Amino acid sequence: MTNPILSVGNVHHRYEQQPVLEDINFEVEEGSFVGLVGPNGSGKTTLIKLLLGVEKLQRGQITAFGQPIQKFKNKGRISYVSQKANSFGRGFPATVKEVVSMGIINNRNPLLPNQKNNLELVKDALKQVNMEQYLNRNIGDLSGGQQQRVFIARAIVNKPKLLILDEPTVGVDSQNVEQFYQLLAKLNQELGITLVLVSHDIGAITTYVTDLLCLNRSIHYHGNPNDFENMSDEQRSKLYGHNINTITHNH
Ligand code: ADP
Repeated sequence: MTNPILSVGNVHHRYEQQPVLEDINFEVEEGSFVGLVGPNGSGKTTLIKLLLGVEKLQRGQITAFGQPIQKFKNKGRISYVSQKANSFGRGFPATVKEVVSMGIINNRNPLLPNQKNNLELVKDALKQVNMEQYLNRNIGDLSGGQQQRVFIARAIVNKPKLLILDEPTVGVDSQNVEQFYQLLAKLNQELGITLVLVSHDIGAITTYVTDLLCLNRSIHYHGNPNDFENMSDEQRSKLYGHNINTITHNH
């Protein structure tokens, strides 16, 4: 039995007269780890904005948790990490605890039993990303990779069902990128958070994702990442709609 968290049907989108998305159809199953890849300008950000309901749907349908996106009340179920998240400069006057606290949606009733206080929620989230020892440190004093973990903590502090990440490894040192993907895989497998990871680097993510979606205005491939990897470069280039000889096999 399939259980889609997101369902996208016949979506088209244009800016002025320029079509940027054409006939987009796919579902995101609960528990999956979806890699959304495509070259620059292929419509990835536009699609994410439509999924988040921040760009108005022009044509087609999107449902989140069974509700049309236009009527969907998020209540912390969908969380988002942008690529520009990890850009706090040195000396930025906020601690890790404060940054993660900003993510808390206070729609819980403190009088109910078993409600955790905010500090406990922050500590829980930091523990999931192995950053609990940095609770009182200034965010600006951390490396790009550490900051990105803190932003993941902020995004999961409300225990979302779906986490959407837009190019989250921008600003993360190359030696820490692999570790970062391992962390995402852990959040997916151990906490059951469904993930949509936007990337332009197919080679780096195929090991981790359960579903690969190749976008270049329309969807050129949607399926198992291993089947995609096992194709010839020529087949892949055709599907991807542009030349990709940059697939790496370094893991
Ligand atoms: P990606 O995230 O894959 O780089 P985008 O969705 O950002 O792709 O962009 C797809 C196309 O739409 C690009 O040609 C871009 O220049 C254009 N575009 C994106 N946002 C806007 C906008 N707000 N107004 C007009 N054109 C836009």
